[in-house]
Amino acid sequence: LLMAYDPARRLARVQVGIERALVNARMIYEILDVEPHQRDAAGAVALKVGKGEVAFDKINFGYTPENPVLRNLSFTAPAGKTTAIVGASGAGKSTVIALLERFYDLDSGRITIDGQDIATVTKRSLRENIAYVSQQPYLFEGTIADNIRYGRADASDAEVREAAKQAYAHEFIESQPQGYDTVVGENGVTLSGGQRQRLAIARAFLRNAPVLLLDEATSALDNESEAQVQTALATVMRGRTTIVIAHRLSTVVNADQIIVMDAGEVIERGTHDTLMALDGIYARFQQMQTIRGSNLLGGTGQEYGQ
Ligand code: ADP
Ligand code: MG
Repeated sequence: LLMAYDPARRLARVQVGIERALVNARMIYEILDVEPHQRDAAGAVALKVGKGEVAFDKINFGYTPENPVLRNLSFTAPAGKTTAIVGASGAGKSTVIALLERFYDLDSGRITIDGQDIATVTKRSLRENIAYVSQQPYLFEGTIADNIRYGRADASDAEVREAAKQAYAHEFIESQPQGYDTVVGENGVTLSGGQRQRLAIARAFLRNAPVLLLDEATSALDNESEAQVQTALATVMRGRTTIVIAHRLSTVVNADQIIVMDAGEVIERGTHDTLMALDGIYARFQQMQTIRGSNLLGGTGQEYGQ
């Protein structure tokens, strides 16, 4: 009974609800490929991506006016490089990614891709240039091939298979009862977390977008899946401007740039080496980390959350 009134637990439940709402919005936006409910700005033009540099410039944002979530947030994700975002749960990491996908309008500031304000481009063109791989990819009721094809609706069978191969998914797909025609989703074959992630990565390959957003899984997959997911991710990240909400030590250490967020602000930025030398918040996280093991969530999940 006491537990039921514990405010921390109630908060945790609200948080789960919020995450789910975001997942649902994404599902409609990304998977079902319907027109986003928010209209394009008058005179919106198609985004033209060259190298794919993404810049956040003095972003202020709150889901409600009384609760600012991002405060004067600025950083640049260099073209073709990996930027890792780390920070405690609730710091605003997922919000940063949602704003780049234009799920919400900014209160102030600008997000640009190769110098073009994303508020002035068509949502369709923005979406075509961004691939998103979530921690818990959604599979809808349909065949495996259909699920991959949601990366790009007009892809041929050969292209679907090629994407699956690049994502290290081809082998397990072939071992399913009907191969690529096996039905997955609510009433279909159940796939493991690692298999679902590889299907999501195959979608991203198929989309072939210059900008990749990645919400790294917090929970450990089984060893074999884990290794294959890591290899597939490393391949899909290559040459793309990647912004990853990072939970794995290896992702963070190898990132070209690390953005440390706290309460909606960027508090530190740099490479692993420069941040360790700075001996600030990041270095402190890493020290706790060394004690707890190789997952940035550590033992409690309190330090680096989703
Ligand atoms: P992180 O990904 O770093 O854990 P989030 O970006 O998910 O942080 O959340 C930042 C803050 O915004 C938190 O206080 C969270 O409760 C709030 N928040 C996130 N999504 C929503 C939403 N859809 N509606 C209202 N508040 C939200
Ligand atoms: Mg999050």
